[in-house]
Amino acid sequence: MTDAFDVIVIGGGHAGTEAAAASARMGARTALVTHSKETIGTLSCNPAIGGLGKGHLVREVDALDGLMGRVADQSGIQFRLLNRRKGPAVQGPRSQADRKLYRTAMQRALLEQDNLTLVEGEVVDLTESHGHITGVATADGRALTAGAVVLTTGTFLGGLIHIGDRKIPAGRMGEKPSNALARRMRGMDLPLGRLKTGTPARLNGKTIDWSRLAMQPADEEPVPFSFLTDRIQVPQIECGITRTNAQTHQIIAENVHRSAMYSGQIDGVGPRYCPSIEDKIVKFADRDSHQIFLEPEGLDDDTIYPNGISTSLPESVQRDFIATIEGLETVEILQPGYAIEYDYVDPRALDITLQTRALKGLFLAGQINGTTGYEEAAAQGLVAGLNAALQISDSAPIHFDRTISYIGVMIDDLVTKGVTEPYRMFTSRAEFRLSLRADNADQRLTPLGIDIGCVGTERAGRFSAKWHALAQGELLFRSLSLTPNEAARHGLSVAQDGVRKSAYDLLAHSAVGLDDVLGIWPELGTVPQSIATQIATDAGYSVYLDRQKADVEALRKDESLTIPDKFDYGALSGLSNEVRARLETVRPNTIGQAGRIEGMTPAALTLVLAHVRKGQNKDLYPQETDAEQKSVA
Ligand code: FAD
Repeated sequence: MTDAFDVIVIGGGHAGTEAAAASARMGARTALVTHSKETIGTLSCNPAIGGLGKGHLVREVDALDGLMGRVADQSGIQFRLLNRRKGPAVQGPRSQADRKLYRTAMQRALLEQDNLTLVEGEVVDLTESHGHITGVATADGRALTAGAVVLTTGTFLGGLIHIGDRKIPAGRMGEKPSNALARRMRGMDLPLGRLKTGTPARLNGKTIDWSRLAMQPADEEPVPFSFLTDRIQVPQIECGITRTNAQTHQIIAENVHRSAMYSGQIDGVGPRYCPSIEDKIVKFADRDSHQIFLEPEGLDDDTIYPNGISTSLPESVQRDFIATIEGLETVEILQPGYAIEYDYVDPRALDITLQTRALKGLFLAGQINGTTGYEEAAAQGLVAGLNAALQISDSAPIHFDRTISYIGVMIDDLVTKGVTEPYRMFTSRAEFRLSLRADNADQRLTPLGIDIGCVGTERAGRFSAKWHALAQGELLFRSLSLTPNEAARHGLSVAQDGVRKSAYDLLAHSAVGLDDVLGIWPELGTVPQSIATQIATDAGYSVYLDRQKADVEALRKDESLTIPDKFDYGALSGLSNEVRARLETVRPNTIGQAGRIEGMTPAALTLVLAHVRKGQNKDLYPQETDAEQKSVA
C-alpha cells in the first residue's frame, strides 16, 4: 500500500503532535505516523507542563495557535504561577497535569484537525532520491511518500533502560525502542551521540501516610496557559511535601556503585540541572536533606510521582531508601525508577528551520536534537512542522530570531552551539528577557502566525479584538496627564522636572501602580481590567525596553546579513583552521549567528563579514544548480 502526503511526521510525542498540527494548519496534507494512537500525548516523565522558561515556550507555542497550552488547560490539576512575587519577565506558568486527561485532550485535538491523518505503525526506513527525502517505510511493509518528513523519535532511538545492572531495550518503560530506524540513522551522514535521562519510582498513593505531610495547594485563581482559555474548569488538587534524611542518604551512598550511572554502564550524558538522587548525594554531600514533592498523576488515579528522587539504583535499593522517607515507610512501589539512554543528533547538523543539511526535506525536532522536556520538544515541533509545510509549498522559510522569542533563543542555541548535555530552557538564556515575557507572547508572535497562515479564525478574531483594545486603551492612558506638582498632591513621588506625566508615564515608575492612576483618573476604569493590567505591565517595562532597543537593533542588523548555505570557508584565507572547522560544522545562516559560535574571534568575524558584504566573490560561492537553489530557498 502506498499513501501520498505532503508532510509526514514520525512520532506522536510532544514534538510530533505540534509538528503535525502546525503542518496541517498550514494546509499541508499531513500524516502523523506513530507506534500507537493510544500513546499519543504521553507525558513520559513528570506529569507537569510549564515552569520557568518552559512556561514561556508554552505561551509562545499557543500564540502561534499550537496545541500544548490548550491541552494543558484542559488537563491541569494544580496550576501555580511561579515567581509570582517577582516581575512578570521571570514569572512562569506551571501546572501539574492529569496524565489521562492530557493524552485524551491531545488525541481529541488531533482528531479534530483538518488535513491530518493518524497512522499507526513503526517507521523503519527513510526513502530518498538525489539527496532529498521522499518518504518513509513502516515495519509492516507500508510505503508512505511525502515532500518533507519531520522526525521526532524522543527517547526511542536505540533506547536502553537501566535499573541497577538490569538493561531493558525500550523507548520508555513498557514500550519497544526504535532500533531499525536508529540503524538507518547511524548509516547517514549525521553526527550522532548518546544522552540519558532518568525518572523516579511511581508510588501507590493509598499506601502513603498523608496525615504526617505538609501539603501544597494550587493557586486560588489558576492562570491558564492559553490566550484562548478564559477559565480553568478542571478541579484543583494539593500535592504533598516530604524530605530525604540522613538514613536515606546513607543507603544511597553505600549503594551508589550499583547505580547504572555510577557503575559506568551508561555512556550518555545526563541533565545537570535535573540530577538523580544519587547525583545529589554525591555532588552535594554537605546537604543533609532534599525536598520531594508527591504529585498525584490524575484525579482518578492513585499513582504518585515523587518529584526529586529520580534514580537508576537497583529495585531493592530503591525500596530500602524510599522506606526511610517520612510518610513513605510502608509505601508500595508501582514501577521502579530508571535511567534511559538514547541516540541524539548533534543539532549543529541542522539549519535554523531544523532541516538537516545531510538530507533535504528531513527535519528533526524534540529530544532527538539533544533537548529535554515536553515544552522544548513542542516548540521545536512547531518550527519544524511550519517549515516542512512552507517548503513543500515553495514558500520562504520562517525563522524565529532571538529578539522576539524564546523559541528563537532555543533554536539558535541548538544549531549554533550544539549541546554537551540535554538542553533545557531557562529565562537566563534569553538576553532580551525583559521583552520576551510570558504575558505578551501573543503580542510578539500571533501577528507573525497570522501572516504565515498558521493561526485559525477563532484566535485571529480574539487577538485582533485584544490588539484593538490595547491600542485604544494605551491611547487613553497616554492622553491623561498631570504636572509633577499635581502628582505630588496625589501622594506620588515623581521627578520634579516640570514635565507633564501621562498615566502611562506614571506606570513606568515602579512605585506607581494601576490603582494609583485609577484613583486619579476614574475614566480609566472604562478600559477592561485585563487590558489595563497588560498596559500597566507594558508601561512598567517600557523604560528598560527603550534602553534595550539599541542592542536589539544591532543584533537585528547582524541577523539580516545572511551567509549563503554554500559559502566556501576553505577559500577564505586568513581564517585559523580551528575557526574554519567550527564555521564548517555550524554553517551559520547569518553574521549574527556566526558571532555566537564558541571560539569565534572578532578578526575572523570581520573577515567573513567583509566577504559576505562583497558577496560577489565567485570563488566563495560555488555554483548551485537550479534544483539546489530551489530546495535551499
Ligand atoms: P517523546 O515524547 O519521547 O515521543 C516520541 C514519540 O515517537 C513516541 O510517541 C513514540 O512512540 C514515537 N516513535 C519513536 N520512534 C518511532 C518510530 N520509529 N516509528 C513511529 N513512532 C515512533 N524531561 C524533562 O524535562 N525532565 C526530566 O526529568 C525528564 N525525565 C525523563 C525520564 C524518562 C525516563 C523519559 C523517558 C523522559 C524524560 N524526560 C524528561 C523527557 C521528556 O519525556 C521528553 O523531553 C519529551 O517527551 C520529548 O518529546 P518528544 O516529542 O521529543 O519525544
